[in-house]
Amino acid sequence: MLYNPESLPHREELAHQLLDTLSTAGFKPVTRKGTYEAMYARSVPEAPGLRVLVYTSIEPYQDRPGFAVRVKGSDAIRVLVEYDSKDGKPRGVSNESRVNRTGRVEDICDRMLGRMRGAYSYARKPRRCKDCAAPTFKSKGGNDVCADICWEKPRNTAVASLSGVGFSSFSMDEEG
Ligand SMILES: [Zn+2]
Repeated sequence: MLYNPESLPHREELAHQLLDTLSTAGFKPVTRKGTYEAMYARSVPEAPGLRVLVYTSIEPYQDRPGFAVRVKGSDAIRVLVEYDSKDGKPRGVSNESRVNRTGRVEDICDRMLGRMRGAYSYARKPRRCKDCAAPTFKSKGGNDVCADICWEKPRNTAVASLSGVGFSSFSMDEEG
């Protein structure tokens, strides 16, 4: 079936086929605050804290049961590797690959599966920080950056006590 984004039945059919593909591949739904788009993930046993994440471009209807992929072609399906960093925030640590929703429905599902496999194999052996071995991500300037921001030292306690001194002398000035 050649996918036609103008057709609601097509958008529903593609959504169902994508979810079939994801669940066959062992992906489970995940939720994020403020995100309507259905997201699916699979963790990587060999690499703790890492998972392959798929933004499906599928959204549930808000006024009735059911779901379909979004209308616009611009928001493609996106596949990436994500890491649970030590500050508690998940962070993307791979390039985001995009799957365009054009051509036959089966081909779109196959393309997504190919991107999922690529991301999974990267997640098993990601580039890692030389200092702490956490995965790295690419900065806007193209540098590898530690996803745990391991170069940042804890706040210096000397600074806290200095500001304490400043406050107490200020109070004395006010009173005196
Ligand atoms: Zn590091």
